[in-house]
Amino acid sequence: MALSHILSKSFQHPHSVHFSRYLLSLILDKLPYLDIHSHRRSHLEDAVVVECLSMEELTLQKTQAKFTSAGIHPWWTEDFTRAEILKLQDHLMKLVREQKLWALGETGIDRVYPETLEFQTELFHWHRELADDYGLPLVIHNVRSGSDFLSILKKNPPKTPWIFHDFRGNEELVKDLLRLHPDCYFSFGISIDNSPQIRELLPTLPLTNIFLETDSQKHLDIHEIYLRASEKIGIDLDFLISQVWMNFNRVSKPSVP
Ligand SMILES: [Zn+2]
Repeated sequence: MALSHILSKSFQHPHSVHFSRYLLSLILDKLPYLDIHSHRRSHLEDAVVVECLSMEELTLQKTQAKFTSAGIHPWWTEDFTRAEILKLQDHLMKLVREQKLWALGETGIDRVYPETLEFQTELFHWHRELADDYGLPLVIHNVRSGSDFLSILKKNPPKTPWIFHDFRGNEELVKDLLRLHPDCYFSFGISIDNSPQIRELLPTLPLTNIFLETDSQKHLDIHEIYLRASEKIGIDLDFLISQVWMNFNRVSKPSVP
């Protein structure tokens, strides 16, 4: 089949537009940027985004992107009743069964909200069991909760990759997490700008366990994040892009070709 035919075919379907960009970039011998976690819906020509569903999108089961993640954010436990959260769990189950998700999450534990800690933790366990059952990576929201995840990992090691998004921990926490679960990944975005601790941490991390993201930051540019990360780590930008794709393929195994 002619290349132009493959591309025109794949562009016909709205769901495949991201994959088409990915394919096109591969053909042009230039890998796109990978944004592992974003709540935004900006569509860059040269980026592939794992889009995290909003509550509305989750309720409507609206998945547009080639790579989608969905979960019950720990902050939602502040504003919604157990009955409402239960409905969201039903929607989530349906998306998982229909194989619409690349990953589960974000889910996690946020100790800035201690009053809902128990409920957050219960929901986190629900997500991780679902992730284990269906072989999906888990996108994790972690705020002052490194020790919580360490004790969870000690008791019950997971079967799938864990991606700590907007990771703010230190080198010691990274080592402890990786020792307990070598399939842990650490993703960075705005912190490369605003956290000297993260800028120091970056060069100490194994390159095989790094991702980059825009999260919900409206003005954050994924190109800038990659550029700054490559400078901080001390590697070539193209090398970093290809390394992140290797990480993504490893995490995605076997669903991404
Ligand atoms: Zn997020």
